[in-house]
Amino acid sequence: MAEQVLAAVKTGPSKIEVREFPLPDIPDDAALLKVEAAGMCGAYSGYKRDLRRPNPYILGHENAGVIAKAGRTFQQVHGVKEGDLVTMEEYLPCLHCDWCRIGEYRLCWEVDLFNNPDGIHYGGVGIDVPPSLWGGYSQYMYLPINCVPHKIPAGTDLNVAALALPLANGVQWAHVEGGAAPGKTSVIQGPGAKGMSCVLASKIFGADRVIVTGLSRDARRFEACKRFGADYPVDVEKEDFRDRIMEITGGEGVDAVVDCTSSQNETVVLQTFDVLKRKGGTVVTQGYETTKFPLKTLSAKYVTLKMCRGHSYSSVHQAVEWIISGKYPLKELITHPFSLEKTDEACLASGGEGPNGDAVTVLVNPWR
Ligand SMILES: [Zn+2]
Ligand SMILES: [Zn+2]
Repeated sequence: MAEQVLAAVKTGPSKIEVREFPLPDIPDDAALLKVEAAGMCGAYSGYKRDLRRPNPYILGHENAGVIAKAGRTFQQVHGVKEGDLVTMEEYLPCLHCDWCRIGEYRLCWEVDLFNNPDGIHYGGVGIDVPPSLWGGYSQYMYLPINCVPHKIPAGTDLNVAALALPLANGVQWAHVEGGAAPGKTSVIQGPGAKGMSCVLASKIFGADRVIVTGLSRDARRFEACKRFGADYPVDVEKEDFRDRIMEITGGEGVDAVVDCTSSQNETVVLQTFDVLKRKGGTVVTQGYETTKFPLKTLSAKYVTLKMCRGHSYSSVHQAVEWIISGKYPLKELITHPFSLEKTDEACLASGGEGPNGDAVTVLVNPWR
């Protein structure tokens, strides 16, 4: 094993540097992951923003690889040994609160970035916290005892395994929260990695009609959504969102709308209420400021409003089953793998910007 580890460190807004770190010693209750593939959320959340922490950190929270070293206690607790393949959840939860005990790590105080300023996820812990290797855009990543690995069979394509978390968000948002099922029609706003995952999950769970909305620059992503079973791609720069959805549904409206956009534009949410069916529709949305919360409309249409907030353990488990089944054309999604040195370009590409702005899904392969 090399003595030094190369990693892409976020040092400021739109600033990433490749730095070297010493390969850490691994205590009895920890492990080291050799990262083979690290995925990226659309418009990689935070790339352009200020540092979320006082110190720089290694990015990358959708990570898959090989257990390179593991202490005895770690092996016993997690049921893995050196050489096993795993795909990792982003959370580093307490493991003992009520939420953790039911596999809802996303709601644990220790990972709650919205309420706890010290909340911890991979891709967001400072390099000042030993042993610095807290992100997947790195040749090795540190696994403390409270990490959440999902073991996968030998021979699984690790690039595809790195899609486990967006796929899990698809399960969680489109099916668990949005109720995608036979007899239902859903709208998925935004055809990025999460939108595509919501399309796939909606279809696998049996939704009859899936409408996916996006921009003109999303042409290639629309094609991928169609491969996953999207029935109606709608380019909202060319067609009116409300009119087109009402036309598709014969004026009835839809059962659910899931917001997978990254624009943080309140219009995206406000218009969802117009296309819901007359009573009892569900909106699953991201949290951002709005000055026009339409309480009266929600009441008139008897709307259920739910929030996107990561995924449960069981949603990841479901996604992992789809990955190892080989049943779905997931590999086609990975159009743009990047090396560590090109992490900047990868971030831009995942946000639809730069020379690779037509990327469907972006990965970083730290050993490339
Ligand atoms: Zn992500
Ligand atoms: Zn907890």
